[in-house]
Amino acid sequence: MLNNSTMMQRDLEVIWHPCTQMKDHETLPLIPIRSGKGVYLYDFEGNSYIDAVSSWWVNLFGHANPLINRRLKAQIDKLEHVLLAGFTHAPAIELAHKLVALTPEKLKKVFYVDNGSSAVEAALKMSYHYHLNRGKKKALFLSLTNSYHGETLGALAVGDVSLYKETYEPLLIANEQVPVPKDQSEEAAREALKILENLLEKRGEEIAAFILEPLIQGAGGMHMYHPSYLLGARSLTLKYDVHLIADEIMTGFGRTGEMFGCDHVAISPDFMTLSKGLTGGYLPLSVVMTTEEVYNAFYCDYNEYRAFLHSHSYTGNPLACTAALATLEIFETEDVLGRNRRLSTYIEKKLVSFLELPTVKEVRQQGMVAAIELQGYDAKERVGLILYRYALTRGVLLRPLGNVIYFMPPYTIKKEEIDLMMAVAYEGIERLNRSLV
Ligand code: PMP
Repeated sequence: MLNNSTMMQRDLEVIWHPCTQMKDHETLPLIPIRSGKGVYLYDFEGNSYIDAVSSWWVNLFGHANPLINRRLKAQIDKLEHVLLAGFTHAPAIELAHKLVALTPEKLKKVFYVDNGSSAVEAALKMSYHYHLNRGKKKALFLSLTNSYHGETLGALAVGDVSLYKETYEPLLIANEQVPVPKDQSEEAAREALKILENLLEKRGEEIAAFILEPLIQGAGGMHMYHPSYLLGARSLTLKYDVHLIADEIMTGFGRTGEMFGCDHVAISPDFMTLSKGLTGGYLPLSVVMTTEEVYNAFYCDYNEYRAFLHSHSYTGNPLACTAALATLEIFETEDVLGRNRRLSTYIEKKLVSFLELPTVKEVRQQGMVAAIELQGYDAKERVGLILYRYALTRGVLLRPLGNVIYFMPPYTIKKEEIDLMMAVAYEGIERLNRSLV
């Protein structure tokens, strides 16, 4: 008989889990999930959990979504995979056309990859290589403090979460950082833009690209900043011949309230990386979107200068592209952004009540992402872990980032489920105050 405990034992014999100190599982139960439906995950003993973090920010329209399931079932009997060099297939073609139509106007070409970090790697390489093909060696990248762009070495180099980065520092490529605006005010954006301009003035010649997460720095504790920063960053990068890479891997597909973070101020970056919600949370897929200008800098006779010879085996996988097409079909047939707006207003009203709690330092929100930052706890106390464990006992999957509790649920969440998700977080914080958890 399979139950949670036998599944956990079989797992721990052989699986090394991501982003985990495995020794924690001597005392921390692993939750084996048997099935999912809508916003709920079900374990082997019939317990349900509201997936308040959309399974690492990927799920948009619920688990086992009927439309995505149907489209995938139809595709699997046609073509499961084919290499994308020298060959192509209908889902990749159709998806690329839709993405070009959907993303900011200058983004006209789609380079398929298969996960977020690899999309970031590809964008960095493309940017460096573009300048090289134009006769300029720009071997430095620029990013924001507190940023996160993935875990491969290139992506780590441009990130700034020391928990993940510090150990590998000697292995990393050259990167400079400028301060992220300290809060969501316009004033903070203005201050940060001044520092950006100073740096670009001094070192713009050396810098290939400036990479940022539009509006919300996810793994950096759901730190948020004002959209005017994006506008300023776009005009400064153009002025100093530095590419702008909008890493919309987390913010894309409606998370921030608009389809893309860049849409808040109608900017068109030189590169946009997309993944996570792209397939509705079904399958690994990512893309680097770029401009005709970048594409043309690689377009020439084979021996003239180097083409972009970057590849991954599962690039543009037909099943993943089909899941992405089904996801976009939902955006086309339903007023997703309008519904999200109503849900975010609902979340916003409830969020202010957290300010009554003495350990709450700040609450913040951008679209379908809401965060509560606690104060007065040392990192060693691992309050995030304590809250995670408590929420599970109440049927909610919260996964705080240090002292920051956040909600990033699938867009199909109902008001009653938001009520429960937020009540559990509230009670968890209260119990922590009274040292009950
Ligand atoms: N960029 C951003 C902004 C992300 O949030 C993430 C993942 N959390 C990544 C890149 C990396 O994506 P992946 O985990 O698919 O490698």
